[in-house]
Amino acid sequence: VASAQVPAQAQPPLSAVPGKYNGYADLPNQVYRRTVRKGFALNIIVVGETGTGKSTFINSLFSSDIYDGKDSPGISNRIGQTIQVEKTRVTLVEKGVQVRLTIVDVPGFGHYVDNSNTWESVVAYIDKRYHEYLEREMSIKRDLEGYSDDRIHCCLYFIAPNGHGLRPLDIQAMKALGTKVNVIPVIGRADTLTSDECKEFKEKIRRELKDNGIKLYDFPAENENDVEDEEHDSKRNGRHKDGEDGKKTPVNSLIPFSVIGSSTFVDTRDGRKARGRKYPWGTVEIDNPDHCDFVVLRRLLLRVHLSDLMDVTNDVHYENYRVEYFGKLGGRNAIEQRSPLSQLETEKKDSEVRINKMKNEMQTIFDQKVREKIKKLEDTEKDLEKKYANWDKEWEAQRKKLEQDRTDYELMKKQLGEIYPQLYSILQDELLRSTNQ
Ligand code: GDP
Repeated sequence: VASAQVPAQAQPPLSAVPGKYNGYADLPNQVYRRTVRKGFALNIIVVGETGTGKSTFINSLFSSDIYDGKDSPGISNRIGQTIQVEKTRVTLVEKGVQVRLTIVDVPGFGHYVDNSNTWESVVAYIDKRYHEYLEREMSIKRDLEGYSDDRIHCCLYFIAPNGHGLRPLDIQAMKALGTKVNVIPVIGRADTLTSDECKEFKEKIRRELKDNGIKLYDFPAENENDVEDEEHDSKRNGRHKDGEDGKKTPVNSLIPFSVIGSSTFVDTRDGRKARGRKYPWGTVEIDNPDHCDFVVLRRLLLRVHLSDLMDVTNDVHYENYRVEYFGKLGGRNAIEQRSPLSQLETEKKDSEVRINKMKNEMQTIFDQKVREKIKKLEDTEKDLEKKYANWDKEWEAQRKKLEQDRTDYELMKKQLGEIYPQLYSILQDELLRSTNQ
């Protein structure tokens, strides 16, 4: 049991320290200011065997009693007939940034004789939140601004401090959850292990996690600003950084985080009041990094990696869900095997092929239309030529006919001119004769 007394240690700060950098300082200024104004909404699901100290941890995280009457030893009084979830919402202010924290607790997990389906219901719960978001995204009134995003950004998986290692249920559950959400393993009630036992247990768990290919949230390297922030807090708390030589302990080497939960204040040997647990041989303080990783984990979750947790949820886990969902709809199950980046690449190639195909089709249609138009024009020209040719022939025929008529007329006139005197004298003689008679 970690019973060492440590220098004065204050409560983790919940209020703003203006003008200091923190994990959100990575964001470009404008986005940063807007985000600070609007705040963050972080949703955490807490999963693990009953009695591993989850609800006490949650109360400690919020610095208040969210679950009343929970300090009775043994099994939580929230256990029901079936696995169900309990949601708790609290708004915290971390370094001037509002964090609307929602904790989803899964009481009764691993409590039954047959636990084969317990993690499936957690996975189903996470999927349901993705689906709700997807439906919202696809709805005609795509009002995501005011929409409360219930997607789970992080899963704190509580491992029992048994000193033996992971149970088969833990392995199965974390394997399944790791593909769905940012999983962060945590050893609950870590004060039941001595510091050496805790160190050994952590190493054992790390090995088992690796051997079983369990996917965990990969903490990105902290930048200068975060280090500065950490230094500031350490100095303020009158304590050095994690390592004895003053060097910061890499976050990934702390995994699984050892946490102790308590909402009560105890008197330390040096006369301070600190949140912790009192034992006949001494006290353990939950906010003391020499005793457990509670403050480090709290800082990483609520300050440093909050934005990254949300980004990974949106860009990787939600995207995987979306592709898998549409893949299933379209019977394209193969797509679920691929990484989001390769899926994006394929989608890009697919759309390029589609665009090229459309271009070719449009070109073919255009060429065809042009050919049809040219043919129509040629046909019209031929028709006109034919028509003009016919008109020429008709005109020539009419001209010839007129010519003939004129010739006939001339002939007739000539003939008439020749026979006219003879007819005249005949008529005259005839007239004389009739007069004489
Ligand atoms: P849950 O069922 O996982 O939510 O666990 P609870 O938070 O209800 O804790 C179960 C029991 O363990 C309660 O009696 C708590 O007082 C006790 N407990 C919780 N956290 C700690 C801890 O960090 N150390 C020790 N020693 N006991 C703890």
